[in-house]
Amino acid sequence: MVLTLSICAKKARYVSEADALLAIAKATITLRHYACDRCGEFHLTSRTKGKRIARPVTD
Ligand SMILES: [Zn+2]
Repeated sequence: MVLTLSICAKKARYVSEADALLAIAKATITLRHYACDRCGEFHLTSRTKGKRIARPVTD
C-alpha cells in the first residue's frame, strides 16, 4: 500500500480529466490518461491500446 501510494506521488497527477488532456496535447509522445483508483486523480501513461510494448520477463 505504501509502495502504491509512493508510485502515485512520483507520477504526475491531474485533478481533472481536462488537465490530463491538456498535458497530453502538449506532449510529443502518445499518451493516454486514466483515472487512478488509488488517489482518485488522473495519471498519464505511455502505454496505449493496440500497441504492444515488449517488456522484459523478470521471472
Ligand atoms: Zn494515483
